[in-house]
Amino acid sequence: MIFKTDIQIADEAKMLPIEEVAAIVGISNSDLEYYGKYKAKISWDAIKRIEEKNKDGKLVLVSAISPTPAGEGKSTVSIGLAQGFNRIGKKSAVALREPSLGPVFGVKGGAAGGGYSQVVPMEDINLHFTGDFHAITSANNLISACIDNHIHQGNELKIDIRQIIWKRVIDMNDRALRNVVVSLGKKADGFPREDHFMITVASEIMAVLCLSESLIDLKERIGKMIVAYSLDGDAVKVSDLGIEGAVAMLLKDALKPNLVQTLENTPAFIHGGPFANIAHGCNSILATKLALKTSEYAVTEAGFGADLGAEKFMDIKCRVAGLKPDAIVIVATIKALKMHGGVDKKNLKPENVEALEKGFENLKRHVENVKKFGVPAIIAINRFESDTEKEITKLKELCEQLNVRISLCECFAKGGEGAEDLASQIVELTEREKSNFKYIYDINDSITEKVNTIVRELYRGRQANFTKAAQNQIKKLESLGLDKLPICIAKTQFSFTDDQKIMGAPTDFDIEVQDIRVSAGAGFIVVQTSNIMVMPGLPKTPAANKMDIDNNGIITGLF
Ligand code: ADP
Repeated sequence: MIFKTDIQIADEAKMLPIEEVAAIVGISNSDLEYYGKYKAKISWDAIKRIEEKNKDGKLVLVSAISPTPAGEGKSTVSIGLAQGFNRIGKKSAVALREPSLGPVFGVKGGAAGGGYSQVVPMEDINLHFTGDFHAITSANNLISACIDNHIHQGNELKIDIRQIIWKRVIDMNDRALRNVVVSLGKKADGFPREDHFMITVASEIMAVLCLSESLIDLKERIGKMIVAYSLDGDAVKVSDLGIEGAVAMLLKDALKPNLVQTLENTPAFIHGGPFANIAHGCNSILATKLALKTSEYAVTEAGFGADLGAEKFMDIKCRVAGLKPDAIVIVATIKALKMHGGVDKKNLKPENVEALEKGFENLKRHVENVKKFGVPAIIAINRFESDTEKEITKLKELCEQLNVRISLCECFAKGGEGAEDLASQIVELTEREKSNFKYIYDINDSITEKVNTIVRELYRGRQANFTKAAQNQIKKLESLGLDKLPICIAKTQFSFTDDQKIMGAPTDFDIEVQDIRVSAGAGFIVVQTSNIMVMPGLPKTPAANKMDIDNNGIITGLF
């Protein structure tokens, strides 16, 4: 049983100086750009050299069942698993997303793993880290400032101020900024218009940063981002404003992956953090490739459940980067499965084998889905103290019937030791079963076909219905030649359907597509199934209320 909080455990970590962590993965002192003693960015020279010279290790993706408020623990398992690999003598590194300040101060608290499977220095990683999110915020808002200035200075591009789609951002949950009016005041203050803030992680710049592999790639993608439509109906791009160079310049350091370590000194590349609904929800390609090229087993994570996160990882990130996962871990908890089986959040602790069996259907569907991509799967049960022996035995029995491997993962309580079995099973799995990785849809299919393939094959719904607005958008994208791109479905993460209340493994439903738009820089088509919250609010008692710092800089309550 753990009596310590995450921050207490993290404070007791015996961290190695970052150059010693880098040495583990063959990165030398001169390849590091230091951000204090325990954090560094990797230089371009090193990135290029490693890309050219090193061979790929095996790529292990960590995904999960449909999330529940009971929590699953993907980051915790990812970190624990990388530690587990190292303990069984297989060199491993983990590639993860950077936490956003919004959730840190909102409901969730920190997002750097938990218990004895954390990345450190956790308070730095959770707060300003190496400033990447601040750089992304500035880059985004430079574009906003230039749009309003362009209009003020004569509006040569004939930007229709009713059709400016580019929004300002801040990395904070702040509902007051969802809808604002800018440019109030005198003539010199510009043309008043309604504007909106998003949280930084929802910005297209974040997605672009995570999908770019060099500064030139980044600059080109930034140039292609559509910011508004003109009075003639033409798309206005960042390149039309002539500022893609300046925006890329602001991101010159943010584009380089960050290196830190886990509690057991396993190298961790933590970089980027796009939303998993209107964007693809995985850390940067550069960080994943570094982990892959510097270890035998690279562990990485995709946001939300496997229907959203793993699907986008494979159909968007792998397509762009030419990556191929060798194995997928589906994380589940007994508590969450009981919730999928109909148990209320308040009653999850008492033993309930029947509900577990019912909720297993959700896990089963995710396993079947992953296999459709041709990738071997394994289930990791993230063990909680409340799990009973009877429940664990039942779960093992169900997995046996499904012919899928299962590992009881105790990495929260025991660190890498608690994930040794998972790591060993993955080694065996990847040696015995070769991944025959394939995408779920053909990029050259029409937008409607691509969406329907995902709905039928993965969500197991009947079909997608498109509103008039969505149909018009499809026609527009076809006419602009922007329809042969991957699909990024923005849907509730809590259900296979577009209704967050329907848990488990529902069938006989349709998916309603409200709107479609293109993220031309990121290079995907966002298919919105409901109104997606791009600026979250804070709860009645934010996590911020429990946080404190003393005169010696000792932090409490960061989780
Ligand atoms: P995810 O990546 O799926 O969002 P995290 O790994 O961030 O989940 O875990 C969410 C929270 O649950 C963290 O605060 C973590 O400390 C806690 N947690 C994870 N696994 C366990 C466990 N086995 N027992 C208790 N708490 C856990």
